Amino acid sequence: MSLDKRMSTWHMGRLWVTEWVSPKEAHMHGLEEIIYEGRTKYQHVLIARTFAFGKTLFLDGYVQSTELDEAIYHEALVHPAMLTHPSPRKVAIIGGGEGATLREVLKHRSVERVVMVDIDSELIELCKKFLPEWSKGAFDDPRVELIFSDGRRFIEETGEKFDVIILDLTDPAEGTPGIKLYTKEFYEAVYNALSEDGVAVTQATSIRYYLFAFTAIRNTLSKVFPKVRPYKIFIPAFLCEWGFMLASKSRDPLELSEEEIRERIRDLDLIFYDEEAHRFLFWIPKFVRKKMDEIDLVSTDSNPLIIY
Ligand code: SAM
Repeated sequence: MSLDKRMSTWHMGRLWVTEWVSPKEAHMHGLEEIIYEGRTKYQHVLIARTFAFGKTLFLDGYVQSTELDEAIYHEALVHPAMLTHPSPRKVAIIGGGEGATLREVLKHRSVERVVMVDIDSELIELCKKFLPEWSKGAFDDPRVELIFSDGRRFIEETGEKFDVIILDLTDPAEGTPGIKLYTKEFYEAVYNALSEDGVAVTQATSIRYYLFAFTAIRNTLSKVFPKVRPYKIFIPAFLCEWGFMLASKSRDPLELSEEEIRERIRDLDLIFYDEEAHRFLFWIPKFVRKKMDEIDLVSTDSNPLIIY
């Protein structure tokens, strides 16, 4: 097995990938098998089988999702937003490489059309080939239009209105293509591309490692949307609570009744999300809320949020 020397090391007779979560902390993944390694036009891609999490997608050295727990991440990202809208018919996914976000959206019977816009066509082909368990045929669903373009450009130029817009992007890390998709100007374009009761949701980085980024995303969305709700869930492969931010033009996810959630997900075949999970997702611990109150960072095009 071979791998870029900067991110891999041999130890105890086995190859390890080191994922740097901060300059002072790293998560090491013991590799059973390298399935694919290479560079697309936009990012470094490693698809490997790790001993702890099974098949795993790494982009630029960061875990994106794993066979063991991808469903927790994708159900948490998709369903609270889909339920906050009373009956989503048109959905846009910006990013979403692996196709699992698409899979979850398509479970909702009200959905008539989904546009998925990812910048990296080579990555999508790799996901289709090596990670078909993630998309489970979703790319072939007749309701889907797949567009390869910069998500910001699509959102700014589309004349179409969507009921739900899901931002399943890589973190705004230095030198990565997602930085301009966390700014106030971008969120204004998202607002304009939403229908009257429209709902947007974004992955919002790690609460533990990047609380400043999680809070900046909350602050920035709050400049544009009347209702913004932070939420989180522990993702074992990320070794931390992962953050999300739901932004809505009218309905509030906290006002959804348990009966409505139960009724609307009855036929969806979910492993994690239900009415109990919904209540727990939106609970942010007191000490985290206190720290968030002390951070006033807002991301703009001229001064964008960047994780170094
Ligand atoms: N689950 C992930 C996480 O933990 O951060 C994010 C999912 S997904 C793999 C991220 C996708 O965002 C990738 O497929 C990448 O190509 C896409 N992406 C990044 N920047 C983009 C942009 N400017 N426009 C469209 N897609 C973008």
